[in-house]
Amino acid sequence: MHVNIKEWFRPGSVDEVLEIIQNGKGIPYAGGTGLLKGQVTGLIDLRRLNLNYIRETEAGTAIGANTKFNDIAHFQWSDGRRILAQALGRAASNPLRNLITLGGSLAFRPVWSNVPTPLLALNAIVKVAGTQVAAYPIADFLQLKRGSKFLITEVLIPPASGHGIYYRFARIRFDYSALDLAVYLETDSGVINLARLAVGNIVSTANRLTQIENQLVGLQISDPLVNEILSTVEIKPVRNPNFSREFLLNLLKTEMERAFTKIRERVDAN
Ligand SMILES: Cc1cc2nc3c(=O)[nH]c(=O)nc-3n(C[C@H](O)[C@H](O)[C@H](O)COP(=O)(O)OP(=O)(O)OC[C@H]3O[C@@H](n4cnc5c(N)ncnc54)[C@H](O)[C@@H]3O)c2cc1C
Repeated sequence: MHVNIKEWFRPGSVDEVLEIIQNGKGIPYAGGTGLLKGQVTGLIDLRRLNLNYIRETEAGTAIGANTKFNDIAHFQWSDGRRILAQALGRAASNPLRNLITLGGSLAFRPVWSNVPTPLLALNAIVKVAGTQVAAYPIADFLQLKRGSKFLITEVLIPPASGHGIYYRFARIRFDYSALDLAVYLETDSGVINLARLAVGNIVSTANRLTQIENQLVGLQISDPLVNEILSTVEIKPVRNPNFSREFLLNLLKTEMERAFTKIRERVDAN
């Protein structure tokens, strides 16, 4: 696949990586599963940067950009953050999950990626090093141009004391998904205090359903209005060769309702 590669770089610091990227000599090589054949002649092996870690910090769980899907899927998440593990543990195949990294997936972010949706529902922060060091809320990060000349270094997932549900739909288990959905709710005495609903794959860039979220806050989770509000979701699904737009939109509505039912059952059980 990488027939034009003439040089491998093995830098030991972020500054060295940036110099290579900014001089146009090479691009990062993380899991290597998304590198496209093209004009690239140099690859930067990121392994010496030690960006493969999951650490608890006061602000949340910090995940190094070079951390593999399987490491995240097998981590012992103790709260609503486990929807990230569920998403990445179902993506691709087991051998591929030992290669694919969080940072490479955020940089490449193909429409079928299962990374952005749970990160949106969890309000993650993406840290990058470029001409300057910056930390982007995930929603802002997803608006940046692909192929920007910076290095993704870390993703921070704030604590999530509420309830989360992740759903992924594909024709067969090992196939690109046509729809993924993440719902994260915080409730107090059954009242929805915070709602984050994120959808991916069905749209070109994963995003939050903020209009719906705003209408849900303040309602009892058992209020029949909840399903009415969910049914008003308005998005135009991207074209999919296997499923009609109508089917995907109906599936989204159904799965949102199911997610709320499951969370309601958990809230009632507590
Ligand atoms: C058969 C197959 C099925 C798949 N199915 C799924 C699926 O169901 N769900 C899913 O989520 N994913 C899936 N993937 C993975 C997805 O398609 C991409 O291949 C993957 O997300 C790329 O991640 P990587 O770590 O391999 O990155 P790489 O291929 O190494 O890099 C991808 C791009 O990101 C850049 N890059 C890498 N790391 C960084 C960094 N730290 N900072 C800045 N730029 C960086 C590289 O320069 C390159 O341009 C699948 C892949 C394959 C091959």
